[in-house]
Amino acid sequence: MNDAGSAAPVGAVAAQAAARVAATIRDEIRATSSYATAKPSGMIELHANENPWPLPAALRAELAAAVAETAVNRYPEGAGDRVREALARALPLPEGAAVVLGNGSDELIQIVTSAIARPGATVLAPDPTFVMYRIYAMLAGVRYVPVPLRADFTLDEEALAAAIARERPALVWLATPNNPTGRALPLASIERILALAPGLVVVDEAYAEFAGTSLLPRALEFPNLVVMRTLSKIGLAGVRLGYAVGQPAWIAEFDKVRSPYNVNALTQAAVPVVLGAAEVLEAQVARIRAERSRLAAALAAMPGVRVTPSDANFLLVRVPDAGAAQARLHAAGILVKNLDGGHPLTSNCLRITVGTPSENDALIRALAST
Ligand SMILES: *Cc1c(COP(=O)(O)O)cnc(C)c1O
Repeated sequence: MNDAGSAAPVGAVAAQAAARVAATIRDEIRATSSYATAKPSGMIELHANENPWPLPAALRAELAAAVAETAVNRYPEGAGDRVREALARALPLPEGAAVVLGNGSDELIQIVTSAIARPGATVLAPDPTFVMYRIYAMLAGVRYVPVPLRADFTLDEEALAAAIARERPALVWLATPNNPTGRALPLASIERILALAPGLVVVDEAYAEFAGTSLLPRALEFPNLVVMRTLSKIGLAGVRLGYAVGQPAWIAEFDKVRSPYNVNALTQAAVPVVLGAAEVLEAQVARIRAERSRLAAALAAMPGVRVTPSDANFLLVRVPDAGAAQARLHAAGILVKNLDGGHPLTSNCLRITVGTPSENDALIRALAST
């Protein structure tokens, strides 16, 4: 009841709202569930491919000062010039490449998909891959064509070439290293797909720092290539900054699709500070890579466990019973992502983020105690 006491009971209004929703909201959206991002605190979080290390205290103090100086009563600088300049200083961007920023690369996926979403357009990607490609295709009302990977999660290049010839996709997504498999694509395969694809190919390098290879320096060499990156996996997931790099002709169109102030003022203040201390993040990435080898070897030594070779900050691990393993890890205070039931190729697979040495030890202990 509201203060006036005149409105219908809240329960009755809720029922009316549900009926209006059913009559108004698109069927495919009502049929989908929200992307699960729940974060129980106090657990060892190895489920979201984050960097487990906090920033050092001195850098956090610098961040605090930069944030304190931000005029939050003003709109942020629309195109994020200071952030783009900081990226240009920190990264091997080719001279003349254009850059568009996103509120995480998730937003860039939505922007690119909206921009190509002509009636009848098709989006194509190897499968399984990052789920947001499919979700944003659905939201934009374009057809999404998944092309199965091989059973060992390598690219079925002939199947992909045939699908490109058949579907003439406006957009091809190539995540390298791929999520959830952790595998990087051979450069020769990417070049072949770029040559075959009639439209745009976005190479999503969310995990490139862990692989050590990147197309970023070659972003202008192909007429249909855009390279997409994020700061999320190297230690700034909470800051929400993604970026896409390519020929100015592509980037100018994406710039029209993004919301005017899509990257907020606090992010714009923080990013140049952290990129200015790139050696801190690089050292953390190096520790994660070293831990990745140790963790992979320990897991592979367990009976019935198969570890896919990883170029990322996580491992795709097949176990005898993923549900039971996840439950046992949960009881030990450890969160991992269970991919069982999601895709036939990932039955009984867990995706496990590489944590700190002590977190990884806890995981190894909990998995071994069966
Ligand atoms: C995590 C991830 C992203 C999205 O990252 P943001 O946090 O939105 O920048 C994009 N692509 C792949 C393959 C990912 O795994």
